[in-house]
Amino acid sequence: MLTGVQILMLGGDARQLEVIRKLTALDAIVTIVGFDGLQSPLDGALQANLDESLFDSADALLLPAVGTDDQGYIHAVFSEQPLQLTEAHIARLPKHCKVYTGMAKPYLKDLCKNYGLVLVELFDRDDVAIYNSIPTAEGALMMAIENTDITVHGSACMVLGFGRTGFTLARTLQGLGASVLVGVRRSEQYARAAEMGFKPFYINDLMQYVSNIDLLFNTIPTMIVTAQIISNLPSRAVIIDLASRPGGTDFRFAEKRGIKALLAPGLPGIVAPKTAGRIMADCLSQLILADSEERGNGI
Ligand code: NAP
Repeated sequence: MLTGVQILMLGGDARQLEVIRKLTALDAIVTIVGFDGLQSPLDGALQANLDESLFDSADALLLPAVGTDDQGYIHAVFSEQPLQLTEAHIARLPKHCKVYTGMAKPYLKDLCKNYGLVLVELFDRDDVAIYNSIPTAEGALMMAIENTDITVHGSACMVLGFGRTGFTLARTLQGLGASVLVGVRRSEQYARAAEMGFKPFYINDLMQYVSNIDLLFNTIPTMIVTAQIISNLPSRAVIIDLASRPGGTDFRFAEKRGIKALLAPGLPGIVAPKTAGRIMADCLSQLILADSEERGNGI
């Protein structure tokens, strides 16, 4: 249980509602800012306005998927009020307070570093990334279905990158009956992809494999689907780029060639906010519980 643990949550979307539910169920004292527009009140959480004094007693500060923008503004879909995290706020946090977010921009990283606070980026963690790969693959599939006039079954799919997202996506496509080529850069990934029944190839040889592809999914966060690659794709091909902004596709050239290319960031929060929220809630509650026990507050 998190009895007596003080948690301050600033902003967010439907995912944070799952986090609030889980933490209040564990008996934490949860203060929320940026939820004043919620239609139905959340039992057990205390609504507040952004006031510096809130930071004095926080054991954990929770920020949304993208912590803040480059000026400290926090995305808060349930409020019309701008929410800005400033140095004055961070300066008032107790030294033991950890700051949790999905991923942090330099603004937040610098503030935490300057004040010696531990910053935890949940999306960096293998467990969270693997769980998140499930709604990501489903979202990618949804986009593929919406943007093609053929079935995924029987189609020629290519997945670039065989990490946490690529692995799940390749398996999902295979499960639907697609023929799946997987672009890797390491021999052990090549071997694993072959063992799983995919058609592996080395990314350096990408050009040789693109001429008959219906759907190309990219998970590699660097420019990989270049103009040269795009010019060798069949005109029917659709590119769905899942890599973090700006993606790994030359979108300008794809448009010029008339090839549909879509950047698809943040799919878990779009296609399955409840599941994505539960993934965050489970991980956060375990981490905050472990912190609390370390401080000798375990109950
Ligand atoms: P990951 O586990 O690190 O996988 C990335 C894959 O790309 C690995 O196979 C890696 O190879 C490969 N790779 C990286 N740089 C490469 C390069 N220069 N050349 C060839 N291969 C390269 O990451 P992930 O969790 O799957 O996430 C992949 C991307 O998707 C990230 O940008 C992430 O932010 C994004 N993402 C998007 C969504 C969404 O909703 N669109 C959801 C989750 C994640 P090695 O294993 O050899 O390093």
